[in-house]
Order: sequence, then structure tokens, then C-alpha cells
Amino acid sequence: MQKATLLALSLLFGAAHAAEPLLIHNAHGLTLDEKGRVQRFDALSIDADGRVLATGKLAELQAKAAGARRVDAKGQVLMPGLIDAHGHVLDLGLSRLTLSLRDTADLPAALAAIKAHAAARPDAAWLLGGGWNQANWKLGRFPTAAELDSAESQRPVWLERVDGHAGWANSRALQIAGITRDTPDPQGGKIERDERGEPTGVLVDGAMGLMNRHVPAPSKAEMSAALEVAQKELLGLGLTAVQDAGVSNEADQLMREFAAAGRLKIRIDGMARGSDGALIERLRREGPLAPSGEGLYSLRMVKLFADGALGSRGAALLAPYSDAPQTQGLLFNKDEQLLAQMRAAVKAGFQVNVHAIGDAANRQALVGFETLQREFGTKSTALRHRIEHAQVIALADIPRFVKAQVIASVQPVHATSDMNMAEDRVGAQRIQGAYAWQRLLKSGARLACGSDFPVEEPTPWAGLYAAVTRQDAEGKPPGGWYGQQALNSLQALDCFTRAAAYATRREGELGTLTPGARADFILVDHDPLGSSPAALLKTRVLQTWVGGRLVYEAASGTTATSR
Ligand SMILES: [Zn+2]
Repeated sequence: MQKATLLALSLLFGAAHAAEPLLIHNAHGLTLDEKGRVQRFDALSIDADGRVLATGKLAELQAKAAGARRVDAKGQVLMPGLIDAHGHVLDLGLSRLTLSLRDTADLPAALAAIKAHAAARPDAAWLLGGGWNQANWKLGRFPTAAELDSAESQRPVWLERVDGHAGWANSRALQIAGITRDTPDPQGGKIERDERGEPTGVLVDGAMGLMNRHVPAPSKAEMSAALEVAQKELLGLGLTAVQDAGVSNEADQLMREFAAAGRLKIRIDGMARGSDGALIERLRREGPLAPSGEGLYSLRMVKLFADGALGSRGAALLAPYSDAPQTQGLLFNKDEQLLAQMRAAVKAGFQVNVHAIGDAANRQALVGFETLQREFGTKSTALRHRIEHAQVIALADIPRFVKAQVIASVQPVHATSDMNMAEDRVGAQRIQGAYAWQRLLKSGARLACGSDFPVEEPTPWAGLYAAVTRQDAEGKPPGGWYGQQALNSLQALDCFTRAAAYATRREGELGTLTPGARADFILVDHDPLGSSPAALLKTRVLQTWVGGRLVYEAASGTTATSR
């Protein structure tokens, strides 16, 4: 690109203050190169555009980096910033600004937290939040509206389950939404009912829309606050880029504004929410937004849904659930409906990312991608479509990923969060194709790693730990849960850096520190390739740099400073 064009772009996007040339030295540097090999270095030079000029020994780099400001890394580990290939940025921020029941040990504790939250917000028309999990409460059933009424009965309360695939309402909220025993289950959804057919308060998957359409949307000020809170937290964890798995029309506008005003500090590659009619209509006219200028924001992927989640038995299976033989979950669409959405997205030039958890949903998505491959050839495959989660896959379907050139976008922490539940749901046979990362890699398929925050905590160190151990934080079970599917440390690092960049068509630019790449890096206190898993889990992020700019620095302790 011409310099003048670049200048115009940077003025257009308001980010006129260019980075300065830097020479970072005294580092234990490491990166994976374009072939995935480990490269080690002790100095890194960065140009005024915030890109890597070279890595190597200080003496070699010094000559070409005259005038660059020197930064002493004080012997810390310097590595590429981590990338989360699947998270929900605004949901994370909003969850930090609303009630979280994530850490509640049982139902009484949750009800006490709700009561306190309600008392602290006398002016709120609705009380909103989420993070509950009846399994953690050892409840053996969903909670009820009557129980929620005991904490707050005057105002409507609506609380999402930790996986976002079910919601818990009190009686006032059910009343506002007009949900009664006469309300039929909507397509792809379920209203939980008692033996008399009365709604009990929990709405699963497609039924959540019956409530959500009555919930006031967050204001723009709330969304801005959420984006600020989320990016700050993510940068502090060592993430320099995230792929947002469901950008709404309002969120897209907000992120564009943040990028233009220089307020966006983390890179966000968005997936447009396929169910957002206004956004899809606009994108059909405007086309995909490629990363430009400083490359902080893009929107050139579309997120579609094939099914729900395993915990709430909304995931679509080819055969009944092992622990609920009367159900096999729900496909959100008929084959032709999903295919029509996929086809429209490819025609408009978008990468298609389909959420698929159950083996029936994965098969439906794979068949769809095979059809696109037949119809559009490389025009489709070059977009690098993905299956988000790719959680339970029929063994016979695993080779179809590589044949259809579909990336499996997986979340290692889901395996360790789900391990006690997943085998109950699908049984000993089907579990062979579940969270089957090594089977996928051996078939030649590509993985990308993420966390699905705020469904899980966003820390990538927990993701790396789960990827290499398949154990909980206490090291259980010994040898890992189906430990032969664990990644080695190199594969795990690759999955959270280069491979994640590949999965959004930014390889070479992100996830690596080879020359020409964006200078997105972190200083940490452990070498991810040379540490025990327990040490890896406790990795401390000292500094985070995006595009050659320092965007996070740990409050205290040994951190690098400039000369
Ligand atoms: Zn998600």
C-alpha cells in the first residue's frame, strides 16, 4: 500500500499517532515461525508502523535499529500475544457489570446473592445476570421461578445459565413475557414444565427468545463500559487478539467507533451474528470489513447455529442421549435452511463459522460445507470455514473436516469443565469422538483454540493448561481425561497463536513475531514450552504490547521499563 494511502487511512481511523521504532533487548524471546518451528531470540526490533523488523541477537539488530528507543525486558520471557479464537467480548464486559452467579456453591447462596443484588439496585427495572449452573449446585434439576420469587418477586428477574443456552425467570418475568401452560415450545426451544404442564421458570435455547424480546437492551453507555472493562481484562491476561463469536449490529457499530477513536486496544476479529437481521441486511450491502490501518477490527466472518449445548441437552445427537433416552436434542434448522444461510454468506464473501456441539449438528454443518465446496470450489474453501466447538463428532465424520477444509475451533477448557457431564450425556462409545483434538490433528484437520468466555473464564493460561493436561486445576484425573487426546505444549501454543490467526485469515500477521508481523507480544514469567503444567497455569503477565504499543503493565513486581 502507498504511504499516502496509509496516512489517509490512519487519519480516517483516527489513529494518527504512529508507534515509534523500538529495540527490545535482554529478553528470553520465543516465537513459532511460518513453518511452526520454535525460534528463540534475545532482541526484537519494531518499526514505526508497529510491525516486527527482526528478531535475533542484540548485536545483530543494533546496526539496523539506530535511533530506536531501547526497552529492557529484564530477562523475562517474551512471546507472541495469545489469541482467543472464540469469545464474546461484550458479554464478558456485561457479565462483569451485572450479577454473576458463577461462584455460588448452592441454590441458597445464589438466592442470597440475587437478593443482595436486587437491594443494591432499587432503580433497575429488570434484574439481569447469569453464570448459574445447577450441576455445580448439586441440584439434580433446574431451579424454579418460585425459588427465584423468594429472592425478588416485584421486579422481573432473568438470569442466563453459564453456557448461555438456558435462562431462569421469576414469575414476574414469565408474566411479562406472557408465558403460560398454553404457550407452545418454539422451534429449537423448550419451556421447562411441571407434571401439570405449568412453566417452571427455565427456558432452554430457542425458548429464551420469548423472554429476551422483552428484556431492555443494554444502553450504548452500558455497552461502551462493557467493552472498556472487557478489553482491559483480556489484555491483562496476555490476549492481544480475540475472535468475537457473535457481533450484533449495535456491537459492530460500537467496535468501529472504538477503532476509529483509538479506543480499541485489543484486536477484535468479529463474527457477525447470523440471527441479527438488521446487521445481516447491512452487511449484504456493505460486504465484509477487512482489517485495515492498524488492523484492530474486522468483520468478515458470520456465526450461524446448528444446535444448542450438551449440558442442557440442547445439542443435537444422531441417537438418543445416554442419560435421557427420550431425547436426542434439537437441530435449530432443517438441512436446507442452514445451507441457505451458509450459501448466502459465502456469496457475500464471508467466512462461515457454524456452532455445532452434537454429532448430528456437526454432520449437518459438514454436509453443508461439502455442498458449498461442490458449488463454489475454492471461492468457498479459501474463506476457511469453521465449526465452532466441534465437540461431539461421529468417528466416521472426523476425516470430513480435512476433506471439506473446515477448521475445528475448539475450547480446551470445555473438555475439563464438561468431563463429568459429557460421558453421562453421550456414553462410552460416542465419547471417543468428543473433544477429540488428537484424532482431528491426525486426520490432517486444523484446530484453533479459544475459551468461549464468558461461558468459561477468559484466561488463556487455563486454556493452555487444559489443552496439555485435560485435568482440572487440582490435577485430576491422573493422566488426564482421555489424556491421549491432549495436545503437547508446542501444539497448544500453536493453537492459541498461529493456528488461531490462520483461522481468521491473519497468519503471518498475527500470532507470530516473524518479520512483518504486527508487534503483538507479552512479557511473562514462565516459558510456555519449558514449564510444568502447574507453573503454566500460574503464569503471570507482566506487560502486553499491541502493534508496538504498551497497553498493559502489571501493577507491581519485576516488570521491564524503558531505558
Ligand atoms: Zn460461544
